[in-house]
Amino acid sequence: MTKKFFITTPIYYVNDVPHIGHTCTTIAADILARYHKLLGEDVFFLTGTDEHGNKVAQEAAAAGLTPKEFCDKVSRSFKEIWPKLNIQYDYFIRTTDPRHEKIASAVVQKLYDKGYIYKGMYEGFYCLGCEKFLNEKDLMDGKCPLHPNKEPQHQKEENYFFKLSSFKDVLIKAISDPNDPNHYEILPESKKKEVLSKLKEGVDDISISREKVSWGIPCPWDKKHTIYVWVEALLNYYTATQFVPGKKDFWPADLHTMAKDILWFHTVIWEALLIAADLPVPKQIFIHSFYLIDGQKMSKSLGNVISPQQLLEKFGADATRYLIASSFPFDKDSNVGLQKFTEKYNADLANGLGNLVARVTKLCENNNLQFSPIDLSIFRSIETNKILQAVDSFLREYKLSEALTVIWMAIKGLDSYIDKERPWELTSSEAKKRLDIIIRGSESIRSLLEIAYALAPFMPETAKKIEKQFSGPKIISSTSLFPRI
Ligand SMILES: [Zn+2]
Repeated sequence: MTKKFFITTPIYYVNDVPHIGHTCTTIAADILARYHKLLGEDVFFLTGTDEHGNKVAQEAAAAGLTPKEFCDKVSRSFKEIWPKLNIQYDYFIRTTDPRHEKIASAVVQKLYDKGYIYKGMYEGFYCLGCEKFLNEKDLMDGKCPLHPNKEPQHQKEENYFFKLSSFKDVLIKAISDPNDPNHYEILPESKKKEVLSKLKEGVDDISISREKVSWGIPCPWDKKHTIYVWVEALLNYYTATQFVPGKKDFWPADLHTMAKDILWFHTVIWEALLIAADLPVPKQIFIHSFYLIDGQKMSKSLGNVISPQQLLEKFGADATRYLIASSFPFDKDSNVGLQKFTEKYNADLANGLGNLVARVTKLCENNNLQFSPIDLSIFRSIETNKILQAVDSFLREYKLSEALTVIWMAIKGLDSYIDKERPWELTSSEAKKRLDIIIRGSESIRSLLEIAYALAPFMPETAKKIEKQFSGPKIISSTSLFPRI
């Protein structure tokens, strides 16, 4: 039976248009999804948008639109940008989809029926920016650490609460003990430690309904309340498998990917909700860090937000994927910027890969070399493609930039080999034979085909071009893959 692999990105909140942070997670997930497809697995790659909550209702009103019209518009901007970056998701979920609403509502009703939900009074702070309740200890100088320019709202209202506190020990065991039936892995290790130590400090029950927020899914047992947007949004990962045709067996997810700001929701609250509802928990949760833009935190107020459109226009789809993955903020924040990206583009793509491909093409053309067709299966198999084997060990740990470093070592290696052999100096007939070996026999072309296939999850369009260019009996001349900018 084919191995299944279900991978998700977070569903992005529609109060924001796509930026480099969303782009980072979605490109990373696409690379991993493509890699698992390449290994022959049956992959389900899910992304989408999170569309309920007060902030959405407010922004819609400010834009003179109904909440639904507003969501349609912003959701489209996410849905349409991803394919332009060669991101091939299998399904795009929207939490305003009635099928999601129905299943999410049934799961929450189950929690209520099982006695995990009770009515209480909530009093405390709420950050509209995060759509999140904040404890006194979460505040920094009285503000939300992620939204220091926004005044947190003080709220007092009747809410329904979920008994999160009763899951403290269950979760600690599930995270720590690989033999626990609810075991899930939190990666990288530093994030696992962070979650465990916070859990050990103790957790409070959490409010899971809102009385005054109408743009949401009504609590099925008390229609005066709507389900707290975060609880309902998390459920998307499960609901999609239940209503997208043919995906029922994909639950539990193999891998949730996300940035560190939503760690707690995904590694504590989500699993507690699932365990309470007798549903299996996801297998792995991988959390990456943030991009800093020229050394600073990215923020609207600083005006340093980079959009995927900007990257696409300047670099093109595959180069953007390369720049994102090679600067991937695995465990620590990664410092990027348009200037830095341009330098990296010129060094690694225009002068590196692009130049190498042009060089080999030119050598073949100048000497009018004809090839016998090459059997591509050698390069397309992890058993025989050495570069792919090295890439594999890094991709299994989600170390995207290290995986690319391996490929770039091969690119540099081939470049040095050609430099050393100096085939352009060979002219006599004896020399021609030697040239034939160097180019076709073929260190160069074989290496390039090996490189292309290992590169395929990262830069699918480029990989295809290189393969096409060098696998036939005649080398196809092409325009420069990555013109200098
Ligand atoms: Zn906030």
